[in-house]
Amino acid sequence: MDGKMESPALAGLVREPGGAGDARLAVHGGDPVRRTPWPTYDKGAVFVHPEDEEAALRAIRSHLYFRYDYRAHRETECGGFEEELCRYFGSKHALAVSSGTTAIALAIMAAGIPPGSLIACPGFTFVATPSAIVLAGCKPLLVEVDENLRMDLDDLRRRWTPEIKAILVVHMRGFAADMEGLTRLAAEMGVPVFEDAVPALGVELQGRKLGTFGLAGAFSTQSDKSLNCGEGGFLVTDDSVLFARAVVLSGAYEGRVRRHFPDGEPPIATDLDLPLLSFRMDEIRAALLRAELRRLPVRLERFRRNYDYVAAALSDLTEIEIRQPVAPGAYLGEAFIFRVPGGDAKWFARALCCEGIDARNLGSDEDANARVFWNWRFLFGAEEVKEIKALLPDTTRHMEQAVDVPLSSSLSIEDCDQLIEAVRKVARAAGADRRPPEPVQAGAADERRHALGGFPAEPVPAAGTADAARRRRRR
Ligand SMILES: *Cc1c(COP(=O)(O)O)cnc(C)c1O
Repeated sequence: MDGKMESPALAGLVREPGGAGDARLAVHGGDPVRRTPWPTYDKGAVFVHPEDEEAALRAIRSHLYFRYDYRAHRETECGGFEEELCRYFGSKHALAVSSGTTAIALAIMAAGIPPGSLIACPGFTFVATPSAIVLAGCKPLLVEVDENLRMDLDDLRRRWTPEIKAILVVHMRGFAADMEGLTRLAAEMGVPVFEDAVPALGVELQGRKLGTFGLAGAFSTQSDKSLNCGEGGFLVTDDSVLFARAVVLSGAYEGRVRRHFPDGEPPIATDLDLPLLSFRMDEIRAALLRAELRRLPVRLERFRRNYDYVAAALSDLTEIEIRQPVAPGAYLGEAFIFRVPGGDAKWFARALCCEGIDARNLGSDEDANARVFWNWRFLFGAEEVKEIKALLPDTTRHMEQAVDVPLSSSLSIEDCDQLIEAVRKVARAAGADRRPPEPVQAGAADERRHALGGFPAEPVPAAGTADAARRRRRR
């Protein structure tokens, strides 16, 4: 394995004797598939249109920047945005707040989860998820993810203790979690489910929007997300008591919570028994978000189009295992994630980078990726990384095998074609480079695959290809 680990600086200099011309990998000194930078995420600056500028200017020119002034709730930008969110999600309540992290923390606090409780969350998520649990005064209990990087419900059951008072599920990188299984388990244990639905805005599972399955769902409007106002977030819920408490906690002082219930009284006796944390949204950002929300469906369609195009074109590759959704269509498509089960994902990602595609090996030891649990050092004492990894061995393995390629909604079909070409080129070379299989450990699927011949140097025959693709789809 280590033989392939040249430093990136060296990679371009190494020349293979009698190199294979165009087919030679850029990591070995060949021509890269692409020479312009890969648009990683959207860098904030796409899908912002002149009408969004006009909306923000409208708020600025009103000189009314605070959401709670003399205007009726419905006449404020924040109030209007919240109404539009309720319609979009089909939910009873929505509250615009200062970030996705505060939206998650508010949901936990407003639900009355006692401080010090354990809250279960997956070992693969952005660091904001466990951070929000800490912000709410609770402690994260990390749960394994399966090979498709979804929270492993069997593992959650194995780790269960009565100190766990809630489950915080994450639809990580836009792929829906198994909400049916999770809802059933949570009901059995008598605890609520919260959704960190930040990465999956607009994604549906069984005809229902993610974020509306749990007691409350949280979203972010920071610049990397599909709605972008720089910083911000919101939560959606059907629970009126939780909502009223979240409104107060977010900073609605002196009875301002009443404005959120224009047709009646809030279902809480007083707002004086909760602290006010100042997690409010402001009028300028809300105006921007209202304009963006109108164009959101176009953006989601771009994500989906690009993802489906790339995934279909690479579904026959036997060298990689493309991440599979829990149900058909239950994903956003803003990231192309695959595993390299029998091979070297770190080398694969580096080779893709040399071809001009921005790819990361999630579990790389050369990269302090904030989505990887062993980098959440604030959760652990003085443990070494090796000891932390041993807490979630399956998740560690899946992270180490995973390659993550961001798919911006601004990608053209030509960009997608280059990604497809680069993955095929690297996979082909990985296949040709394979050394003889090492001794097999019984039961380990990855090792079995290895023993069955590893990566073929040539594309596999069409029949096997279709079978493999069908098998994968059925999973
Ligand atoms: C971005 C993100 C958050 C946090 O959102 P902020 O608005 O930056 O606080 C939470 N969870 C996930 C999975 C995210 O990707």
